[in-house]
Amino acid sequence: MGRLVHTGVFEISTSSHTDFVNVTPLVRNFVERSGVREGLCVVYVPHTTAAVFINEGADPDVVRDIAYKLNTLVEWDDPNYRHMEGNSAAHIKSALMGNSRVIPIAGGKLLLGTWEAIFFAEFDGPRRRKLIVTLIGE
Ligand code: ZN
Repeated sequence: MGRLVHTGVFEISTSSHTDFVNVTPLVRNFVERSGVREGLCVVYVPHTTAAVFINEGADPDVVRDIAYKLNTLVEWDDPNYRHMEGNSAAHIKSALMGNSRVIPIAGGKLLLGTWEAIFFAEFDGPRRRKLIVTLIGE
C-alpha cells in the first residue's frame, strides 16, 4: 500500500467563554475510516485564541482544574495589556497551550494512553471553530 494523506476539517461549537471539548471520538473515527495503518495524526487549530492539548479524559475534574488554573494565572483584565481587541488573555492561553499535537498511529489506531483524550480548547467563546486533522502514513 502506498503513502496516504488525508485531511479533514471539522466544525467545533463551544458553549462558554472557556470551554474544552473532547474531540477524541471525532479524531479516532476519522483515523479508523481513513485506511491509514501506520503513521502520524496531526491535530491542528487555526485560531489564535483557541488551542489543542492532550490530557486525562477519564475524570472531567482534571480539565476543569486545568481551565481553573489557566484562568487564575492569566487574568482577563490587566492594565498592562495593549492589544486593542481586549482579549489578550485568550491569546496568551492559546500560546501557552499550543495549536497542534501529533499522535502516532499503529495498527490503524491512535496510540493514545489509556487515560488520554484530545481536547479542543476555547478561550474566547462561545464560538464556532475549525479543527483540522491531517493523517500521514500508509
Ligand atoms: Zn485578539
